[in-house]
Amino acid sequence: EASSEPPSLPPSDPDRPPGLIIVLSGPGGAGKGTVARRLSQIDDRLVLSRSWTTRPQRPGEPDDAYTFVDAATFATAVDEGRFLEWAEFLGHRYGTPLQDPPPGSDLLLEIDVQGARQVRSRRADALLLFLVAPSDAAQLERLRGRGDPEDHVRQRIEEARRESDAARELGARTVVNDDLDRAVGEIRSIIELERRRVR
Ligand code: 5GP
Repeated sequence: EASSEPPSLPPSDPDRPPGLIIVLSGPGGAGKGTVARRLSQIDDRLVLSRSWTTRPQRPGEPDDAYTFVDAATFATAVDEGRFLEWAEFLGHRYGTPLQDPPPGSDLLLEIDVQGARQVRSRRADALLLFLVAPSDAAQLERLRGRGDPEDHVRQRIEEARRESDAARELGARTVVNDDLDRAVGEIRSIIELERRRVR
C-alpha cells in the first residue's frame, strides 16, 4: 500500500535487534571529525557513516571525507528517499545515506544538530552526544587552522551558538574535548553503558 511515511529503520532483518545509532554533533572547531575517526579506529563494532555533501572539497581534505556530489545528484537522492536525515548548513546540503551496517555493529554519525533531531524522531533510542571545544579561543584556533576563509569562520562561530542551544533542547549529552584521549575515553564509556543497557 502506498504511504508517504519515510521508510523506518532498520530496513532489514526484523528478528535481530537493531544496532545502536550514535550521533556525534557539535560546533565546527570542536574536533568532531578527529574524535569520530579515533572512535571508529579503536572500536571494531563502530561503523562510521560517510555523509554526502554538496560542499566543495577543501584543499587537503581527504577524498573520502564525504561523498562529494553536485546539487542535482543530492536533490534526486532526497526525492528517492535515500537519506536517513539531511540538512542545509551554511548554504550546502549534507545528508546521511540510509545504510544497513553488518549485524552486531553500531552506526556512528558525525552530523549537525538539525540532523540529530531528525535521527531522534526516527529512532527514539538514538544516543545523542554534543562535543564542544574547551574554550572559544580553542574553537577559533581550530577553525582558522583548517583554512576556511575568515568570514566562514565567523559564520561558523555564530552557528555554534545556535547549535549549543538546540543540543541542550534535544537533551544531547555534552562532552568537552579538552584532551583527545580523555574525550574519546569518556565517549567510549557512554557507548559501553548504552550497549549494556539495550542488549
Ligand atoms: P563541514 O563543512 O565542516 O564538513 O560540516 C559542516 C557541518 O555539517 C558539521 O556540523 C558537520 O557535522 C555537519 N554534517 C556533516 N555531514 C552531515 C550529514 O550527513 N548530515 C547533517 N545533518 N549534518 C552533517
